[in-house]
Amino acid sequence: MTESLDLKLIINLAYIVAAVLFVFGLKMLGSPATARKGNLLSSVGMLIAIVAALISEIKLPWENILIGLIIGSLIGATAARKVEMTGMPELVALFNGFGGASSLLVGLVAVYNPVNTTFINITIILSILIGGVTLTGSLIAYGKLSERMPSKAIQFSGQQIFNAVLVLAIIGSAIMFCQAPDIHSVWLKVLIGLSLLFGIMITIPIGGADMPVVIALLNSYSGIAACAAGFVLHNNLLIVAGSLVGASGLILTNIMCKAMNRSLNNVLFSGFGAAKVSSAKIEGEVKPITADDAYLVLEAAQNVCIVPGYGMAVAQAQHVVRELSDHLEANGCEVKFAIHPVAGRMPGHMNVLLAEANVPYDQLVEMENINPQMSNMDVVIVIGANDVVNPAANEDEGSPLYGMPVINVTEARTVFVLKRSMGSGFSGVDNPLFFGDNTRMLFGDAKASISHIVGEFKD
Ligand code: NAP
Repeated sequence: MTESLDLKLIINLAYIVAAVLFVFGLKMLGSPATARKGNLLSSVGMLIAIVAALISEIKLPWENILIGLIIGSLIGATAARKVEMTGMPELVALFNGFGGASSLLVGLVAVYNPVNTTFINITIILSILIGGVTLTGSLIAYGKLSERMPSKAIQFSGQQIFNAVLVLAIIGSAIMFCQAPDIHSVWLKVLIGLSLLFGIMITIPIGGADMPVVIALLNSYSGIAACAAGFVLHNNLLIVAGSLVGASGLILTNIMCKAMNRSLNNVLFSGFGAAKVSSAKIEGEVKPITADDAYLVLEAAQNVCIVPGYGMAVAQAQHVVRELSDHLEANGCEVKFAIHPVAGRMPGHMNVLLAEANVPYDQLVEMENINPQMSNMDVVIVIGANDVVNPAANEDEGSPLYGMPVINVTEARTVFVLKRSMGSGFSGVDNPLFFGDNTRMLFGDAKASISHIVGEFKD
């Protein structure tokens, strides 16, 4: 008796330590300077949590756990090793989906439990519902991010009415299931099917530049689903961890909404890119520049701003970009990196890449702080960024991007745009920046172009 009490006490203490590590880890993830430590701290917390849960809660034979652990670890390690840095956003979306799938499965397993109170039934329903929505929603996000699906909004007439009917059907089937909760209940199957369908239906109408908001929201859903699973399993730590993920996901959603200057309602129910068609004609001509000529301009520059975007991740150009920045600074030039909150394909994408290349944090400047300094820049180098520097967002009321804050690179004296073609960005919207009077297009792979300029500096 005392022994089991002692064990319970130790387990609860371990849970408290893990929860505290999660909270401090999350706090540290808020700044690039402390993010690595924060990640480590949270991982240690998770390890403590898993060991404590295995000792206290698991009633399965250890061999079964071990087999699951080995298979899971092998899949995880292979995915993490094989995935390219550019594939990270879709991998994260996929992992999010797996979180949802786990909650769905926990909900299903709990239906076998004979002591089903109304409260437990509600948590089971939430676990299945939110888990199902997170699973299929994340799979759609994965498809869009990996370009296996078109990134633009998919809409049809009567879509909102269809979704409203779907919500009513979900509520109805949940109530029917509660009347006679049983694993063989047809209402359980209906509930699962409708939840999976709902996840698809709420994600397909969102496209283009609005995807960051949805990804953050799905992230939050996966936390809420885990929290519901915590109630199902009577596991306090899962409730705490799920709530932390749910709450931080909501904060991130809010940050992303602010970055897009859009309300969550507007993102979820307006359908980016489907409602508006720009009538503005892009005027001007494209003026290409060679890397040799770009070098000559940069050599004379005093203030340079580098604006990285998704193309820098594709080209894996972050290390040569760092080299270029070092050469410019050695040449007496002040270099800043302008970071747009939705640049790339996942929150903090550019910060991660630049940190990997050891670009000092104090050189990174957020959009709202760099924009007032833009007119002082001799040269802005846009490296594989497109949507986040599209001036149509400021000027063209007909543009789907209209209203989204962008980095105002057109205010600089000269703008170099490094990309491979005249193709559009993730939102599929044309960019008048490429035709601007002070814009010079440096066509080619960003890494190759910058390596060439760095070579000139070395010579
Ligand atoms: P972007 O608008 O997607 O544009 C990227 C550009 O990089 C493309 O125009 C492409 O042009 C160029 N590029 C690709 N490979 C290149 C290479 N090897 N060398 C040089 N250039 C290359 O990127 P962004 O300006 O960073 O904007 C991000 C977009 O993704 C926004 O619409 C955002 O809303 C969306 N999004 C963001 C997140 C997030 O959380 N950050 C998540 C989902 C979606 P070429 O093909 O001509 O080279």
